[in-house]
Amino acid sequence: MVEALFNGRVLLDEGLVTDCVILIDEGRILAVTNPDDPRCKTATSRDLEGGLLLPGFIDVQVNGGGGVLFNDDPSIDTIRTIAAAHRRFGTTSLLPTLISDELPVVARAIEAIGGAIAAKVPGVIGIHIEGPYLNGARKGTHDASKFRTLDNEAVALLSSLNNGCTLVTLAPEMTTPEMIATLVSGGVVVSAGHTNATYSEVVSALSHGLTGFTHFFNAMSPLTSREPGVVGAALHDKNSWCGIIVDGHHVSPVTLQIALRCKGFDHFMLVTDAMSNVGTDQTSFMLQGKKIIVRDGKCVDEQGTLSGSALDMASAVRNAITMLGIDLAQAVRMASTNPARFLGMDHEIGRIAPGYRANLVLADDALNVLDTWIDGRSTTAQSANAQ
Ligand SMILES: [Zn+2]
Repeated sequence: MVEALFNGRVLLDEGLVTDCVILIDEGRILAVTNPDDPRCKTATSRDLEGGLLLPGFIDVQVNGGGGVLFNDDPSIDTIRTIAAAHRRFGTTSLLPTLISDELPVVARAIEAIGGAIAAKVPGVIGIHIEGPYLNGARKGTHDASKFRTLDNEAVALLSSLNNGCTLVTLAPEMTTPEMIATLVSGGVVVSAGHTNATYSEVVSALSHGLTGFTHFFNAMSPLTSREPGVVGAALHDKNSWCGIIVDGHHVSPVTLQIALRCKGFDHFMLVTDAMSNVGTDQTSFMLQGKKIIVRDGKCVDEQGTLSGSALDMASAVRNAITMLGIDLAQAVRMASTNPARFLGMDHEIGRIAPGYRANLVLADDALNVLDTWIDGRSTTAQSANAQ
């Protein structure tokens, strides 16, 4: 049955459009058309009552949500809980993110993601494996005792998910450019993070297939006068993508504005780096045996080190508008089109256009999420079916 969404302000490539109808069929956008289209007459209609209809948000870095952390129990149930928690904030595609852990846990996590995708858990499109191939000098909240060297056995494991995306965050200086190329040839998207690399080490990694920078500015060598570092290499390179946590705590908004001017907003992605507390009223939780306190909108350990974030995607988009001085369309693209391009999924998700998966967010002007669609199914339809 075709569904027609009308009376919305729809964010298309050309900007917000008010007089169009979105036709959805078989989980995909059948057409972006006008109300006179005869197909509208036979479709089930949904009045969006003037709300904003946006491409569904894509979050490539999500450690947890809904009271659970992926590392604690990498299972399909955990993934389902995390995806449902973030869906309430407009995330319709996500990569559950495993921070540095033992290899059997990594293997379990990959298997669980494969199972979740096969079971069509709404919103799950792959996995982000952040570590354990990181640099102890930039460990952040990771447990450095888990860090290790990337070997062929690990490359085989990291390349083993065959029904979704795999994103691996590693420190380029802790491996070789050739190992990065091998991972990339195995279908893995490689991003630099928790890294103390020099500018030239990053340039070499970029020429061997590195395409991303994880929580840009945080846990990486800074831009200095004589050594551009990871930050300088990322800003100088026009083709790679930077994930940014726009919560007002991880990076100064001024620093982010400078970065956007250097590289262009189309190569930045909003990420949450969310922990278990997102979507709950938790005030503390345990992370690999460490107590993390949620205070003033941030997650910190007892030493005050930032440990993920308390951010959700709708807030990230809102913050991007208010803190970075960009408009709604630009902010939403940083949460949809840009991460889709980074993951090589820009033919499937990240835009409202014919043929794309019907992954959509309905929001009010304050970006409160009113409904979401994943593969054409809205939360409203799901709850009606459940009754
Ligand atoms: Zn990190």
